[in-house]
Amino acid sequence: DKFKDGLTKTRDSFVGKMNDLVKNYRKVDEEFFEELEDILISADVGVHTVMELIDDLKDEARTRNISDAVDIQPVISEKLAELLQKSEDETALKMKDAGLTVILMVGVNGVGKTTTIGKLAHKFKQEGKNVLLAAGDTFRAGAIEQLEVWGERVGVDVIKQQAGSDPAAVMFDAIQAAQSRKADVLLCDTAGRLQNKVNLMKELEKVKRVITREIPDAPHEVLLVLDATTGQNAMSQAKTFGEATDVSGIVLTKLDGTAKGGIVLAIRHELDIPVKFVGLGEGMDDLQEFRADQYVHGLFA
Ligand code: GDP
Repeated sequence: DKFKDGLTKTRDSFVGKMNDLVKNYRKVDEEFFEELEDILISADVGVHTVMELIDDLKDEARTRNISDAVDIQPVISEKLAELLQKSEDETALKMKDAGLTVILMVGVNGVGKTTTIGKLAHKFKQEGKNVLLAAGDTFRAGAIEQLEVWGERVGVDVIKQQAGSDPAAVMFDAIQAAQSRKADVLLCDTAGRLQNKVNLMKELEKVKRVITREIPDAPHEVLLVLDATTGQNAMSQAKTFGEATDVSGIVLTKLDGTAKGGIVLAIRHELDIPVKFVGLGEGMDDLQEFRADQYVHGLFA
């Protein structure tokens, strides 16, 4: 069970602390809830989310007459699941039934954007789809080559221009190529330098405009890649990108490398953007569609 394995660090920390809490307190009282609050915050669940969750749990404990700490544990996992599961199918990618689906990948350098593009390309290829990559990060040294390495690894072509060229021009080329080759999916890399926020956002807008000019309902998905190990930084990146462009979903990478997997809850609850995929390792198979029930199960199992 990949999901469960990927959450090992979070689970060990989170569940370990939870079990201690239940052992130490036995009774559900004010102090118990304060400790629980600390545990959730240290797992990066996010202060606002934690506050609401604790209020909810207090209500539930009251109405259900729960006084033993062991009995509140299932209620906690129930509430976490509720928080994540806003609707059943919102995590599915919006794919075109016929014709080209364009997916724009955005995010700051180093979060795992290239790796995620490679993993997604692999997933689509396995589904029998014809996939093409667009090397839209023309700014970062080595970005194009790195994408090509992934292209070779999974067996898909990369549409590119020289380093330093206009990313919008690359997108234009890539869309032409995708259409003439009757590709099913075009995965577009973009630059991720956050040092110059205004320029980056302008560039993203331009890239998006070019795509929409060629295909009016595209991009069909704008996936923001966030690194789970960066905690609250990931939250602020999500806010920045969310202001600049319509992010339709989040890919949360490196969930395997953090004990702070509670960030999933903070993102879902505080930003109202669905987490669509999680990265659980560096390999091409280490990308999983996000499922709230599996996540919660993975935390407690
Ligand atoms: P980019 O700069 O955003 O394109 O980032 P890269 O795709 O180059 O990834 C940066 C590093 O993170 C690389 O060493 C990847 O192997 C690693 N990485 C990416 N995704 C994951 C993941 O889900 N889990 C782990 N453990 N490492 C990852």
